[in-house]
Amino acid sequence: AVVTRFAPSPTGFLHIGGARTALFNYLFARHHGGSFRLRIEDTDRARSTDAAIAAILDGMGWLGLDHDDEIVYQFSRAARHAEVAHALLEAGHAYRCYATAEELEAMRAQQRAEKRPLRYDGRWRDRSDGPEGAPFVIRLKAPQTGEVTIDDKVQGPVTVANAELDDMVLLRSDGTPTYMLAVVVDDHDMGVTHVIRGDDHLNNAFRQLALIRAMNEVEGEWPEPIYAHIPLIHGADGAKLSKRHGALGVDAYRDQLGLLPEALENYLLRLGWGHGDDEVISRAQAIEWFSLEAVGRSPSRFDMKKLESVNGHYIRATGDARLTTLIQPKVESALARPLAPQDIELLQRSMAELKKRAPDLNSLAASALFYLRTRPIPMDEAALRLLASAPSGLLVRARAALAAVSPWVVPDLEAAARELATAEQLKLGAVAQPLRAALTGAGQSPGLFEVMEALGRDETLGRIDDAIA
Ligand code: GLU
Repeated sequence: AVVTRFAPSPTGFLHIGGARTALFNYLFARHHGGSFRLRIEDTDRARSTDAAIAAILDGMGWLGLDHDDEIVYQFSRAARHAEVAHALLEAGHAYRCYATAEELEAMRAQQRAEKRPLRYDGRWRDRSDGPEGAPFVIRLKAPQTGEVTIDDKVQGPVTVANAELDDMVLLRSDGTPTYMLAVVVDDHDMGVTHVIRGDDHLNNAFRQLALIRAMNEVEGEWPEPIYAHIPLIHGADGAKLSKRHGALGVDAYRDQLGLLPEALENYLLRLGWGHGDDEVISRAQAIEWFSLEAVGRSPSRFDMKKLESVNGHYIRATGDARLTTLIQPKVESALARPLAPQDIELLQRSMAELKKRAPDLNSLAASALFYLRTRPIPMDEAALRLLASAPSGLLVRARAALAAVSPWVVPDLEAAARELATAEQLKLGAVAQPLRAALTGAGQSPGLFEVMEALGRDETLGRIDDAIA
């Protein structure tokens, strides 16, 4: 059975590159009816934080990337990692290296001076006369000749000469495992069959494979995973993704940009993976269609405009009740008061109009505020200008015309406004604009008569009274 994993280091927020890696692992596992596991790589004690772990879990929860089984915390497995290093040592696939830091620095200085690649030279590889009681690290006795090829599902076959890989450290002199050792042991013990991750880890894969092969000789049953190294996400200008380009935490996409999780998911899915010309792809379709073969080999470019347009699409496709729930906290904090049941009903009634124009939940919430303001509502500059330039007495006559409308529904309200415009020898717009200003406090809004209907008779007439006064 297929087992994938997402293995973030909890040293910062869950950024979109990480979210995409998680998504691909999730989809691949679900496509094959396998499991998707989560491993928190918290071995860097100085940089790992509980806040980062919480942000990762929160981001994955928001995106609906549910993992299977228990979370594995890498640091808690240090004893197991050490056990594997010692098994390799016993079997002669690893050795103790007593080189001191100064010695290794001198070695590298020499290599630098001779313009040779910086590599551990294997000085302890064939020695067993280490000084009694002196500190040592355990290094893998890696093959020195031949080459190793990874048949990467995204990159294709990639080959490296073994001579280019030095004998990496597995266990430090304080007994703690290195990252390389920990990853390999954990992937094995978690039963990971497919390693799908950023292509910045491709170089590590050759060393990790050497370690897996050594363990397979020692113990057997250490199968080689299938690798898929996916290209990183770059900025629109092709440079590495920076903060300015959108290298934000997933929580910022939710809170600051007001994205829907399915919009971000759809966008990240299409970033580096495609299914013909399909733009809008549901979770179910993504699970059905996902394959590593369709992941592109070149870096993807992050495009904020495109993400916003995908989000606008999802907002228009989302039901009014859910949108109301999503914007409620934003609206409440803007108004500094909790919403009453009738406010929530009003929002729901207005949602069909509001969502036609909103690219994100924040602007949707902002555009809904005028419905819920208490009288007298604040006026922006455009509204003040419209009111100041309205023909004298127009609002008084408009109020009288509207007050006679019954039932209070869009067609009757519109008919009354048209009749008034004809009587005033004005275009409908010349009547509608000052009314819009009075009712919404702005020069632009959803359809005026829909606004009147949603506000109701008393509130509509009251706001016009405020503007007349
Ligand atoms: N912890 C690594 C990272 O966050 C990922 C390691 C892996 O996927 O093998 O970049």
